[in-house]
Amino acid sequence: MADPLMFKTTMEFDYGVPREIAPGVVRLVANNPSPFTFKGTNTYLIGSKSLAVIDPGPLDAEHCRSILKAAAGRPITHILITHTHRDHVDGLPALLAATGAKTAGYGAYQLTSRVASRNGPGGEGSHTDRTMKPDIVLRDGEDVAGHDWAVTAVHTPGHTPDHLSFALRSTGSDRVLFPGDHVMAWNTSVVAPPEGRMGDYLTSLEKLMARDDTIAFPGHGGQYETPARVAKAYLIHRRMRDAAILDSIKGGATNVDAIVAQIYKGLNPKLVPAAAMSVLAHLEHQWERDLITVAGPLSLTSALAAA
Ligand SMILES: [Zn+2]
Repeated sequence: MADPLMFKTTMEFDYGVPREIAPGVVRLVANNPSPFTFKGTNTYLIGSKSLAVIDPGPLDAEHCRSILKAAAGRPITHILITHTHRDHVDGLPALLAATGAKTAGYGAYQLTSRVASRNGPGGEGSHTDRTMKPDIVLRDGEDVAGHDWAVTAVHTPGHTPDHLSFALRSTGSDRVLFPGDHVMAWNTSVVAPPEGRMGDYLTSLEKLMARDDTIAFPGHGGQYETPARVAKAYLIHRRMRDAAILDSIKGGATNVDAIVAQIYKGLNPKLVPAAAMSVLAHLEHQWERDLITVAGPLSLTSALAAA
């Protein structure tokens, strides 16, 4: 089966310049580009007379000023959080101080991963805030609304346990989804244990596949159409990777390094640690399904064998 992934790496934007990308939806890109954040973190403003902000973005006074400028005197009543990676929430205190908005998000959670601790670089290099206490705690299917906007929370764990996507409730022809970092078009999502869990991520991809959203505005990179189809391509990609890792173990690879060397041939050495974390996420998922055995706690140096 051919890998169905095709990345969209074009994006029209200027830092600090609000761009109306759909009726009642404005995007601002924070100036924190990196191999893991692409051009930077996307912040969205939704509504017309009063506004909600989706993801304040990184700690960056200039970005906070741009958000307030884009609001143009209209009150920002709510700040919605897709997940608590630092590139999405470090800007929260400053925006709260400037607006007095209510926060809404998943909130506190406990880790349930079999990988006890991150023992290698985790992609975004940013742990989640497991203790966050939003004013409005959202669970799957719950709504939050302001004066002239409303969204439904869709719990999509995998990238992080607290990850929410937001579906805009609108009477327009487009069915708009804000999928955060769960499904982006510019690259695959980082799934790095222990916050990242492959089993949850795959289930959350299936959740998007069952929806009929027509357009998605992700946490990084440009918008894309038919999120259900994109989610399906990513699911097929991950299943192929999962099978390749299992084949590698059956063929005699006994640790993460050996698997990475075998299935990521020619990879830029700088990206090897991220590939190792992705393999670790797949291994956890295989261990949960009793497909492999692991000597001792699962880590980047565990001895592996096929079950
Ligand atoms: Zn993230």
